[in-house]
Amino acid sequence: MEGILYLVATPIGNLDDITLRAIKTLEAVDYIAAEDTRHTLKILNHLNISKPLISCYKENELIKSDILISKLKEGKNIALVSDAGTPVISDPGEELVHNAIKNNIKVVPIPGACALITALIASGISAKEFCFVGFLPVNKTEKTNKLLSLHEIDKTLIFYEAPHKLLNTLTCIKEILGNRKIAIARELTKIHEEFIYGYIDDILKDISNPKGEFVLIVEGNYNQKDEITEKLCNSSLEEHFSFYNNLGYSKKDIIKLISKDRNVPKNDIYQYFINK
Ligand code: SAM
Repeated sequence: MEGILYLVATPIGNLDDITLRAIKTLEAVDYIAAEDTRHTLKILNHLNISKPLISCYKENELIKSDILISKLKEGKNIALVSDAGTPVISDPGEELVHNAIKNNIKVVPIPGACALITALIASGISAKEFCFVGFLPVNKTEKTNKLLSLHEIDKTLIFYEAPHKLLNTLTCIKEILGNRKIAIARELTKIHEEFIYGYIDDILKDISNPKGEFVLIVEGNYNQKDEITEKLCNSSLEEHFSFYNNLGYSKKDIIKLISKDRNVPKNDIYQYFINK
């Protein structure tokens, strides 16, 4: 009989946030697959649990997934944990879960802390519908494209961000999505937990040297046409063109974007520029 793969959420700061079910599961399994074994060892020591650990991080997940699947097939039960919060969410595990399902191995989630949900519920921004983006790409063009693809979404947007990239990311969000209402959740569940609420512009004036872990909750595009699009539509076609040109778009894509913003056929925009 095959073993079970448990996906066990661990605290995102406050160790008291571990659930009773998570403790029972970690005590009962044969192995614990961990993103960083040294980090997990600290939590296990805190809980007085001693178990064989197998490292499973982003770069070795593909190879480790096969090893873990063969152990599960031998009937061993395995718990997968990440450094903090819920495995798979911006953390390793997706490949392993996919592989387990493919091999008819039972997958059991053990829910617990997750930074995006913890931040969202105290953000004061609509939690009715939301889109979790996670980390934005590092590459400037990919980051811009990603944000542009989120522009029209009328749902709350949730981002994870590292402290040294926070100011740049807030500036990019403001430039591309507009000066939206946001909530910044810092150091959730820890001693210095803090929520900053307001419009991006005002928040940018107040933050200079961000430290700690951050979740950004950004209001969705409820007006379909935001301030920036509105301004672009009231500007000349040349100005509209150079806005997207400065963001690195190809001519073909710029024509598509202008046509969408202004709600006019692509060909009209195309004709305008070739007849100039
Ligand atoms: N799997 C985790 C979860 O369930 O939330 C997320 C792991 S991801 C590698 C780490 C990112 O999550 C951090 O860079 C930060 O954006 C966010 N995060 C994790 N813990 C946090 C905390 N205590 N306060 C604020 N953000 C946190």
